Amino acid sequence: MNYDELTKLLSEKGLKVTPQRVAVLEALYEIMNHPSAEEVRQKLHSRFPSIAIGTIYNILDTFCEHGIIRKVKTDSDFVRYDVDMEKHHHIYCESCNHIENYHDPELDELLKAYFDRKQIPHFQIKEFSLQIIGNYKATHDKPNQNK
Ligand SMILES: [Zn+2]
Repeated sequence: MNYDELTKLLSEKGLKVTPQRVAVLEALYEIMNHPSAEEVRQKLHSRFPSIAIGTIYNILDTFCEHGIIRKVKTDSDFVRYDVDMEKHHHIYCESCNHIENYHDPELDELLKAYFDRKQIPHFQIKEFSLQIIGNYKATHDKPNQNK
């Protein structure tokens, strides 16, 4: 995303455009692999050496509230963030810490049909996403993160 697209996205979501918000959003799109707040801070370090981690968390929270990004659940205690707002699942590689997006509408339909038939008692399902955990075979190179 270029500068115009980044600022357009912010204003479309009803957010005031500030240099820090644009920089954080840009960093999220550049890193892509579901970064933590700390990874965003490191990415911004050359341009904003004094930006506090708390500021970054605040901006990330605001982005979540406005539907620009969402939080990804991980087993570790720090949160990671996702710029992909389309429905998708996550593939977790145990050896390299990589989280890959997995888009599969066929699987989504299958799961929906399954739970429509087999109701969970006293529970209304809103959405679901799978955590698919494993290891990349053959090469350990990270695959392209483009969806
Ligand atoms: Zn994702």
